[in-house]
Amino acid sequence: MMCGLEIHVQLETESKLFCDCPTNFNEAPINQNICPICLNQPGAKPHPTNQHAIENALMIALMLNCKIDQGFTYFMRKHYDYPDLSSGYQRTSVPIGYEGELNGIRIREIHIEEDPGQYKPDRGIVNFNRSGIPLVEIVTEPDITSPEEARNFLKEIIRVLQYSGAARGENSMKADVNISLNGGNRVEMKNVNSIKGAYRALKFEIVRQKNLIKRGVEIQQETRAYIESQMITTRMRLKEDADDYRFIPDPDLPPMEIPDELIQKVADIMPEAPHHKVERFVKDYGIDEESAKVLTSELDLAIAYEEVVKEIDPVFAAKWMRDELKRVLSYNKLDYADSGITVEHLVEFLNMLQNKEITTKAGQRIIEQMPNNEKSPKEIAEELGLLGVVKDDEVLAAVKQAIDENPKAVQDYHDGQKASLNFLVGQVMRLTRGKADPGETVKLLKENL
Ligand SMILES: [Zn+2]
Repeated sequence: MMCGLEIHVQLETESKLFCDCPTNFNEAPINQNICPICLNQPGAKPHPTNQHAIENALMIALMLNCKIDQGFTYFMRKHYDYPDLSSGYQRTSVPIGYEGELNGIRIREIHIEEDPGQYKPDRGIVNFNRSGIPLVEIVTEPDITSPEEARNFLKEIIRVLQYSGAARGENSMKADVNISLNGGNRVEMKNVNSIKGAYRALKFEIVRQKNLIKRGVEIQQETRAYIESQMITTRMRLKEDADDYRFIPDPDLPPMEIPDELIQKVADIMPEAPHHKVERFVKDYGIDEESAKVLTSELDLAIAYEEVVKEIDPVFAAKWMRDELKRVLSYNKLDYADSGITVEHLVEFLNMLQNKEITTKAGQRIIEQMPNNEKSPKEIAEELGLLGVVKDDEVLAAVKQAIDENPKAVQDYHDGQKASLNFLVGQVMRLTRGKADPGETVKLLKENL
């Protein structure tokens, strides 16, 4: 399988690409964020291109290791007719960046486009709030060889875009997915608007094409629509080429130059890309790549980790933040940024563990209480009575007490009911208020039973 992607994501700007209308298209009442320019009324001319959109697209190009075209950049008109496009053409720039790379997948080019409006055929409604919002389009070479690889690549692209702060996330993503099998004709699937959708569309399309090939039918070059609700693709049109769009340079927009100073300015404020951060975490902190990937999965989490390791052993901190912190966050469906867990609290918590003021078990219970809690980990530990590690002789005393008090469980254990051991472990934990080491408890129980 050979697969290439064309990924469209909205750029993060306050106003549209060629006018001053705001970009909060979802919140505004229908057809509120519009003006003669983004409705393309006769005589309305576009403003000069939104500088912020150009800078954001440049940043994305640089973060994806692209070369920057320093010649003149200009916009083309791409013609097609659909109710969401009042002018009959979409403005799309020539490439701003080209020959980039991410995770071994080559990026062919990156350019800017304007979003069309939203058309709801079933209700006969067109909403132009979205018309003219700047998009970045990222085009890959057909280097992707499986649906899983496509999914991973899209996840990584979305992560880079989130890190950049220059584009919106998966919710604004639309992708065209190209696929060919065994060097056959290329089929393009449109309307894919999520990572999961791209994965499912590819899975479906592979089966469809394989069945045709098995029957000796040649795959035709065509454009297909992916229908999310049914997880299938259906034919939209046969053979479409660039010529069909009658591209011409837009005469209303003068060519723009991208000067060295602008590239330098963007490079100076550009955040470190996540894949670079992974490499640096592995090298600087001596942690494994899997941990580094989890810790960089969210920019705020990565920043917190780097603050924490100024005071805590990096490997120890990585283990707890990767396993337990992430467990608690995903249980509560929270991002780290929304968890209210401060670096200060993390440091205090990890110090308590490192200094053996609390057991691992107690640590797991404390961290569960930490999201959106103003109390410090120490205060939580005191409140739950988890401070302190119980000495072995105290555990032994609790083991003996548990055995004395539960003769039936002891009898069941000797009769071969292993589950009763768990019951006795629970009793020891209760007696020691969770401060006994579970492994040690099991060992002592078996000896004394
Ligand atoms: Zn407007």
